[in-house]
Amino acid sequence: MEKILLSPPHMSGAEQSYIDKAFATNWIAPLGPNVNQFERDLAAYNSVEAVTATSTGTAAIHLALKLLHVQPGDTIFCSTFTFIASINPALYEKAVPVFIDAEKNTWGMSPKALQRALEDAAEKGQLPKAIIIVHIYGQSVKMDEIMALANQYNIPVIEDAAEALGSTYKGKKLGTFGEFGIYSFNGNKIITTSGGGALVSNKESAINHARFLSTQAKEQREYYHHVEVGYNYRLSNILAGIGIAQLQVLEERIAKKRAIFDHYEKGFRDISNITMMPELADTKSNRWLTTLLIQDADPIEIMKQLTNKGIEARLLWKPLHCQPIFKDNPFYEHQKGTKSVAEGLFAQGLCLPSGTQMTEEQQNYVITTMREILAK
Ligand SMILES: *Cc1c(COP(=O)(O)O)cnc(C)c1O
Repeated sequence: MEKILLSPPHMSGAEQSYIDKAFATNWIAPLGPNVNQFERDLAAYNSVEAVTATSTGTAAIHLALKLLHVQPGDTIFCSTFTFIASINPALYEKAVPVFIDAEKNTWGMSPKALQRALEDAAEKGQLPKAIIIVHIYGQSVKMDEIMALANQYNIPVIEDAAEALGSTYKGKKLGTFGEFGIYSFNGNKIITTSGGGALVSNKESAINHARFLSTQAKEQREYYHHVEVGYNYRLSNILAGIGIAQLQVLEERIAKKRAIFDHYEKGFRDISNITMMPELADTKSNRWLTTLLIQDADPIEIMKQLTNKGIEARLLWKPLHCQPIFKDNPFYEHQKGTKSVAEGLFAQGLCLPSGTQMTEEQQNYVITTMREILAK
């Protein structure tokens, strides 16, 4: 029996023609016409002024921090319930992450915890250089509340929308609210270039500077001339070709991801100790992965049993404030003095296979298998 994977890449078939065009014109390089078109298409799709395509989503976050002039010792506020790539670039710059708990309605940054953290920081005279919010599994955070706090303290927001391309908050695309937004086109994301990312902003001059930094900060002279530290962070012209075709089917992919979620939801509706990931009113999640919480059961045990049945499941993100690498970093829980929400999610949660090529039979098999495991 074929293994049912978590979220494998799903090509539309049109990708090859863009790759072939790159080969035919011998444009086998970073930069080139596919990159330009991919950037234009992404800007149009998200209704944002400017986009620079990057080699990874992590590189895009790093560029955003460089554009905000993050220095060693600066603090960066970040969601704790996320993948470590959200904050690794802060470590590259020797900045100090401060972690903010999740809240139950979005699984994203808790405005309550953020407020306490900002009040403390203001009192100490050590406001953060940036706030990195993460729209986890495609679900928007409470943008109005978070942006109001960020604006009150005048702190720039970086939206890590790596998992949330195409999701919206009050009709507006995620990734376009903050000073900077980032997307990822890694192999497991809702659309992929095999590896790639993008930095977006309504500040065109900032994006132009990011593009400059991502091409070794080479000044416009007749010879190689450098004033700033640069990086080699550009997307390849071949991979951008894959991205152009993938973007054309993004809405189809979102519809399928949402249908997969709904089918699971129906399949588990009568099981009282299963709670599906919520979707906040006035938001639309791309439902990148179907995730759920299971009361009174050990998700590791369930995952192992699913694996034995050929089903790839995953635990939810282990909170960053619980990671050994961050054992000395400050953390603000949602409700002062109570157990963190993010730890609760990690202890109870599971991601189920959500590949957009899954058949209904495969999905029914996952549902039946889960029900059998839980009935034991
Ligand atoms: C995938 C991911 C990233 C990193 O993207 P890469 O393209 O793999 O570098 C960052 N943040 C989150 C939340 C992610 O899921």
